[in-house]
Amino acid sequence: MANKIVIDELRCKGCALCTVACPQNLIKMSKELNKQGFLPAMISRADLERCTGCTLCAQMCPDVAIEVFKGVK
Ligand code: SF4
Ligand code: SF4
Repeated sequence: MANKIVIDELRCKGCALCTVACPQNLIKMSKELNKQGFLPAMISRADLERCTGCTLCAQMCPDVAIEVFKGVK
């Protein structure tokens, strides 16, 4: 069982608050613009495996762009 987050790229305004909020420093900013013209937050597959499911990133996001799933298969 693992934890995972899903970042809704279309909702993301690129504020980077989630990158600061993550205690594990797992979230990075993409180098590619989304359709709204922002650089969205992203997490790599390898970093996703280290997610503790703490939900701090989702709580911090002002645009409700992050969902956290705890204990998924
Ligand atoms: S749930 Fe916690 S550990 Fe996982 S990406 Fe968000 S802040 Fe980081
Ligand atoms: S806090 Fe939300 S809006 Fe800001 S970069 Fe992270 S996912 Fe995007």
